[in-house]
Amino acid sequence: MRILVTGGAGYIGSHTVVELLSVGHDVIVIDNFSNSKSSSFEAISKISGKDVIFYEGDVADISFLRNVFSKHSIDAVIHFAGYKAVGESVEKPLKYYDNNLISTIRLLEVMEEYQCYRLVFSSSATVYGSPKSLPILEDFSLSTTNPYGTTKLMIETILTDVSASNSKWSFAMLRYFNPIGAHESGMIGEDPNGIPNNLMPYIMKVSTGELPDLKIFGNDYDTPDGTGVRDYIHVVDLAKGHLKAIDYVMEHVGVEAFNLGTGHGVSVLDLVHTFERVNHISIPYTIVERRSGDIASCYADCTKAHEKLHWTSSKTLEEMCEDSYRYVINQKKK
Ligand code: NAD
Ligand code: UDP
Repeated sequence: MRILVTGGAGYIGSHTVVELLSVGHDVIVIDNFSNSKSSSFEAISKISGKDVIFYEGDVADISFLRNVFSKHSIDAVIHFAGYKAVGESVEKPLKYYDNNLISTIRLLEVMEEYQCYRLVFSSSATVYGSPKSLPILEDFSLSTTNPYGTTKLMIETILTDVSASNSKWSFAMLRYFNPIGAHESGMIGEDPNGIPNNLMPYIMKVSTGELPDLKIFGNDYDTPDGTGVRDYIHVVDLAKGHLKAIDYVMEHVGVEAFNLGTGHGVSVLDLVHTFERVNHISIPYTIVERRSGDIASCYADCTKAHEKLHWTSSKTLEEMCEDSYRYVINQKKK
C-alpha cells in the first residue's frame, strides 16, 4: 500500500516509517521540521535500506497538500503532524489550536477531494482528563486539562462528525499512553531541545550530565511509592500498532478509538531505578513539589486494541530504558 505519513520525521513518525518500510509499504512523508530534522531520513534509510519519498512543507498549506496528493495515489494516511508540548500550549494556546486543528481540517478536505478516506490519527491518553477509575477504557468520559489536550479531543470530535457525514470514511484514533525508548539501532529516538518536560527525556539528559539531577514532582501521591504512575510504552511497539491500525481502517468504515499502552502502571521511582540498573549508571534526583495539573495514576486497558487490531505491546521496561540510553549516548558521540 501507499501510505502518506504526516510528521514522519518526528519521534513516533520516524519509528513508524521504519516499520511501514520493513513490511513493504510505499511511504510518502510530509514534515515541516518544526520539531525535527531532515537527518531523520538518513537514519531511516540506513536502518531500512530503503529511501523515503519526502516533501518538506506544512500540512496546513492546502496547495502544497494538493500537489502531494496529485503526484501519488495514496491509500491511507497516518497523521502525526502537530505540536505536543503541554506547557507551551498553556502559554500559547492559539499556536496549538491553529497548527493542530487547521492542519487536520486541510488534510481531511484534500483527502476527500482525492477520494482517500482512510486515516489513522495520533490522539492521546490526555483526552481522559482525570479518569474515574483504572485501568482506563475507551468508553470512559472525556475531558481535558490543557489546550494541547483540547486540540486532541476537538480533532476526535471532528473525525466523528466527518465520519457520520459520509460512510466511506474510516478513522482509527490511537490514544497513546507514554511513549519512550528508541529504535534498537540507536539511530532514531527522541531528543528534545532545551529542558525536557517529559520524564524519560529528562532522565536521558541527566544520564549524560547535561542536567545535574532529576526533579521528581511529588512523592505523596496515593500510589505504591508515592510518585506518579504512568503506562510507558516502547515507541517501536507503538509504531507497530499503527501498522495494525492501517490494516483495520482498510477493512472497516466508521470511527474507532483505541488505547495503545502496555496496561501496566510504572512509578517515577520504578522507571528511575530500572534505568539505573540496566544501564549501570546513577540518576541523582530530588523530590520537589507536585507539578500542577498532574494526576496520580494513569494506565490503559488495551483489550480493545488486542481484540480488534490484533495488537499487543511486547517490549519490557528494561528494553525501553536500554534503548533510550543507547540513543542518547549515540547522539553524544556525533
Ligand atoms: P514530534 O514533535 O517528534 O513529531 C511531530 C512531527 O510533526 C515533527 O516532525 C514536526 O516537525 C511535524 N509537524 C508539526 N506540525 C506540522 C505541520 N503543520 N506540517 C508538517 N509537519 C508538522 O512528536 P511525536 O512525539 O512524534 O508525536 C507525534 C504525534 O503523536 C503528535 O500529534 C503528538 O501530539 C501525538 N502524541 C505524542 C505523545 C508523546 O508522548 N510523544 C503522546 C500522545 C500523543
Ligand atoms: N515527572 C517528574 N519529573 C520530571 C518530569 C515528569 O517527576 O521532570 C513525573 C510526572 O509528575 C509524572 C511522570 O513523571 O508523574 C510522567 O510525566 P510525563 O510528563 O513524562 O508524562 P505525563 O504526565 O504527561 O503523562
